[in-house]
Amino acid sequence: MTADVIVLGAGSAGLAAAVTAAREGARVIVLERHGFAGGMGTASLVHTFCGLYLLGEGPPRLANPGFPAEMAERMLMATGDSGPVKMGRVWVLRQHPVEFVRIADELFRESGVEVRFHSEALRAERAGDGWQVEAVCRGQRQILTARTLVDASGDAVLAELLGAAAERTESARLQRPAYVFGVQGVAGGEEGLAMAGRIVDGVRRGELSRDTLGLHFRSSGRAGEVFGSIDLSGAEEGAYDPLDAGCLSRLETGGRLLAAAAVGFLKREAAGWATAYVSHWPVRAGVRESRRWIGRHVLTEEEVLRGTRHADDIALAAWPLESRETTRGPKLRFPDDDRAAGIPLGCLMPAGLDGIFVAGRCISCDHGAQASLRVMGTCFATGQAAGIAALGAALGQPAGDIPRRLRESFGDRE
Ligand SMILES: Cc1cc2nc3c(=O)[nH]c(=O)nc-3n(C[C@H](O)[C@H](O)[C@H](O)COP(=O)(O)OP(=O)(O)OC[C@H]3O[C@@H](n4cnc5c(N)ncnc54)[C@H](O)[C@@H]3O)c2cc1C
Repeated sequence: MTADVIVLGAGSAGLAAAVTAAREGARVIVLERHGFAGGMGTASLVHTFCGLYLLGEGPPRLANPGFPAEMAERMLMATGDSGPVKMGRVWVLRQHPVEFVRIADELFRESGVEVRFHSEALRAERAGDGWQVEAVCRGQRQILTARTLVDASGDAVLAELLGAAAERTESARLQRPAYVFGVQGVAGGEEGLAMAGRIVDGVRRGELSRDTLGLHFRSSGRAGEVFGSIDLSGAEEGAYDPLDAGCLSRLETGGRLLAAAAVGFLKREAAGWATAYVSHWPVRAGVRESRRWIGRHVLTEEEVLRGTRHADDIALAAWPLESRETTRGPKLRFPDDDRAAGIPLGCLMPAGLDGIFVAGRCISCDHGAQASLRVMGTCFATGQAAGIAALGAALGQPAGDIPRRLRESFGDRE
């Protein structure tokens, strides 16, 4: 199979990249190991879009036009919510993973992307002036070729397959993983979801593990349905390694154990929880940070905090640095004057490699900057830029034209 662009991974970033490139006229193949798109936003039940709106006072203003704005609009149509909500100093948009999957199917169909679900890429190499990728579906090999590749795998898988320059923060400082699960049958409104006191009680009485202490619940927006989220240390048996099968397996079984015990406890103890039950496990535990590409520009924490702009910016980073290096909740650091930093095209272009673009949570940045850039609103924006850049490169256009074009659309946002 041959395409102009192969997108590896159909999370927020891969979806944006594939649909954008296809709409521009590219023949696009997207490879996704799951049977649906959305990545962490669906497989891990992450249920809020962050980074869509600029920081600061006043009504919500979209940071990046085009695909991110369209996703916000489609999600609002699907959930029936009236708009984003303000949480402290930030605007967020509630999203439902079931709707995310359906919207992604629609977008793929409308834009003509060729979707290869159940396909895991496990080899990539140069082929002429393009690339050859080998993927496997149920043990069956598929060989695909394209002029350009987009790595939207979240884990910079392509960097590992090509032996290209990539970076990993040391285990102790990595953003902690989390386990998000669905619960049905919860009666009462939002007030019935403030369970911190009860959980502390359960821990004191020895009925719940101490690891349950950070568990919190949010309504999904559907009657009786809530999402529970527990941050995990990931280091139960040695160092946390989000790329190790043993460690990931412990996250899955450990998360299920904590969640089932907590819901069983609340069912017995909490008003409105008598008929509650765990209705869905995530397809995978949530990983916030793993491997990142080293690109032509490595965006730093300092640049995000200063709201730095660059000549080749392709999107704005409109989320504070949200550090979750422990399981004791987030630490937020806001940029000077709430000014959104620019993300230069160089963060999407691997150092020393042509014909590859990167999007999403594994773009080229340092550990601190990734704490802002990883949110889905920003992943949609870097995905959109990677889609345009990948087609441009496939057509032999100079990469320098891409920022100019994207900047015209977001340059007047502040
Ligand atoms: C617990 C948790 C809470 C979060 N909370 C929020 C929040 O409230 N709001 C927010 O906006 N963001 C939040 N985030 C961050 C956000 O969800 C992710 O950073 C973002 O979704 C990453 O998108 P992505 O497209 O870069 O990667 P991913 O979503 O990880 O998608 C990568 C995709 O690539 C596929 N893939 C990987 N390797 C291969 C391969 N070799 N072959 C084929 N397919 C492959 C995967 O299956 C996956 O579908 C949270 C993250 C976590 C873990």
